[in-house]
Amino acid sequence: MVMGKEEKSGTRQIEGLERVFRNNAELAKMLVGYIGKFYNRLKNDFGTFKIMDFCGTHEWTITHYGLRSLMPEGLELVAGPGCPVCVTPSHYIQSALKLGFEGVVVYTYGDVFRLPSLKRVNGAGSLAEARALGADVRIVTGIADAIADARSHGKDAVFLGIGFETVASGYAQALIRGLLPDNLKLMSLVKLTPPAMLAAVEILAKERSAVKGIIAPGHVSTITGAKAWKPVADRLGIPVVVTGFEPIDVLIAIAEALKQLVRNEAKVSIEYTRAVSWEGDLKAQEMIAEAFRVVEDAWRGIGFLPESGLRISESYSSCDAFREYGIPEIAPEYCREDLPKGCKCAEIVIGKEKPTNCPLFMKKCRPSSPVGPCMVSLEGTCAIWARFGADGLADRIAEDLDLR
Ligand code: SF4
Repeated sequence: MVMGKEEKSGTRQIEGLERVFRNNAELAKMLVGYIGKFYNRLKNDFGTFKIMDFCGTHEWTITHYGLRSLMPEGLELVAGPGCPVCVTPSHYIQSALKLGFEGVVVYTYGDVFRLPSLKRVNGAGSLAEARALGADVRIVTGIADAIADARSHGKDAVFLGIGFETVASGYAQALIRGLLPDNLKLMSLVKLTPPAMLAAVEILAKERSAVKGIIAPGHVSTITGAKAWKPVADRLGIPVVVTGFEPIDVLIAIAEALKQLVRNEAKVSIEYTRAVSWEGDLKAQEMIAEAFRVVEDAWRGIGFLPESGLRISESYSSCDAFREYGIPEIAPEYCREDLPKGCKCAEIVIGKEKPTNCPLFMKKCRPSSPVGPCMVSLEGTCAIWARFGADGLADRIAEDLDLR
């Protein structure tokens, strides 16, 4: 595709802006200074506390750039349940495996392809293994690829629609515009982010392990608007900062959350103003509301959360894989026992444990041979920590350089 003059100049502007938020040591030092000053004003009242990021990409930024090593002692950055692959119950992967072995073409994202299922189906413990055993599983980058491919072969097919609000608008558009051919059904496993954030922080609060601020996901908020986080800030009484994905973005968000705490405020702020507005994408929100119904949904390792998932609405039920193939929803008792023995993903997705506290981390469970769901996707906390040496390495380097 050849870009026009205006597009080129727009792309250059965006790239320039992103560079400012990435390679800016002076600004980074200034922000780390603010963070230290704000924390010093809070530490007597709050003691040790946590700031939780929701999005796997924020966890990637924090870990990749070693931002934890720049935080004052006593301020801990923890990851929340922001990886859709990590929190999709393996019950639904087993349903997809079953369909695959019955001759239905299964379309999936590349990370879901490797997601381990707790129980094997016909000898397969993941969609990757099912393909090796003869099932027709195809990796796609999105529903548009699945639509084009399904049209070309005409066989019965199902698209595994895993993701958060960000992908829901694309699925909704496909349903409303009637883009799915008759042979392709959508298995909507979309999850909604604010209810999971509420649950994670409330579980930790009960365990006296206080989260005092939230770094809210930037991508999701381009669709939902920052307003989606207001009930979270109101109910928890802590600041929520909608944030971009460069290291400077994250440092600004932490400084903003601490500043609010110093001022005894608990509001939603938008740091990521270059992409997110208060109202969000109203057209996308309308389409999602039309194409889907909100349901109580199961989060792997957490359990059922009210109003936290999307299934296809009655008006588009002819495209619904659940209806077409009679796929049962997960039973509550199964949801509680959905992780392999020894795996600490249930604690990791709510920020209660670190990957390095799991006895399987980088022993039996590695990115090349994941045991639990958090080691699969690039957005999974264990996979991120495994790739970027978060086993204290960044902390040790910071200490050596006298940066703490
Ligand atoms: Fe689960 Fe593997 Fe992470 Fe342990 S290291 S918590 S087994 S994903």
